[in-house]
Amino acid sequence: MSIDEMLRQKKLKVTPQRKAILTVLEKSESVLSAQELFREVLELLPGTNFSTIYRNLDMLISKGILCRIHRESGGDLYEIRRKEGHHHHVVCKSCGASFALDFCPMEELRRELQKQGFTPTEHRFEIYGYCDKCRK
Ligand SMILES: [Zn+2]
Ligand SMILES: [Zn+2]
Ligand SMILES: [Zn+2]
Repeated sequence: MSIDEMLRQKKLKVTPQRKAILTVLEKSESVLSAQELFREVLELLPGTNFSTIYRNLDMLISKGILCRIHRESGGDLYEIRRKEGHHHHVVCKSCGASFALDFCPMEELRRELQKQGFTPTEHRFEIYGYCDKCRK
């Protein structure tokens, strides 16, 4: 699917900023922080400001085009969403390669929490480590 199609499918206007963000993420082989993404977008679209990029990232996430991956050390990471539905991510700390995980720890926890009268509304679960290539 082309980037234009990706945006139109979600009823989003095709803007130069959105196209630049998706172009950068599509050719990147690793997950990117907002700052890294911004730096690359600037090469395609000089003069873009960071808050515009950040606003667009939020929009693309809310429409399910991008995934946001939480990082304990601060600064979330972004990638093109490759998997439908709820999922979690495994990320290599060395090369930034990532893959989606079908497993969700909440499925088992939910019953336990219900017993305690707790209603979970959100959760995070990411695994960081080294991929096969980087371990060697
Ligand atoms: Zn994802
Ligand atoms: Zn790696
Ligand atoms: Zn989950």
